[in-house]
Amino acid sequence: MTDCIFCKILKGEFGTEFIYENEYAVVFKDINPKADIHLLVVPRLHVESLNELDDENLLAKLMMTVKEVTKKEGINSFRTVINTGKEAGQEVFHLHIHILSGGFK
Ligand code: AMP
Ligand code: ZN
Repeated sequence: MTDCIFCKILKGEFGTEFIYENEYAVVFKDINPKADIHLLVVPRLHVESLNELDDENLLAKLMMTVKEVTKKEGINSFRTVINTGKEAGQEVFHLHIHILSGGFK
């Protein structure tokens, strides 16, 4: 998707630092953090939202990526959020999992 901001980040167009990456996803800091720690797990594959996802294996890999990056970063207590659809607050239509920890706002 050429006009997708997360696809552009995945291609390295903004020089975004990846905290963690594997075969399926990259993880980077949210630009507008809503907690002390706010990371985004973004699949390499462009899928608009959970509504369009039909690959249960990818969903499992993304949740395992959450585990891997939180373990690596020493984040023991965290919240995961997936916003699906505009009315639920989804702003970027490339599936992603928010990881939030500490100082919730
Ligand atoms: P959502 O509302 O679930 O679609 O979440 C999109 C998230 O992407 C928001 O929390 C934004 O702050 C974040 N975001 C948008 N652009 C960027 C960017 N260039 N780098 C990092 N995070 C971003
Ligand atoms: Zn995309």
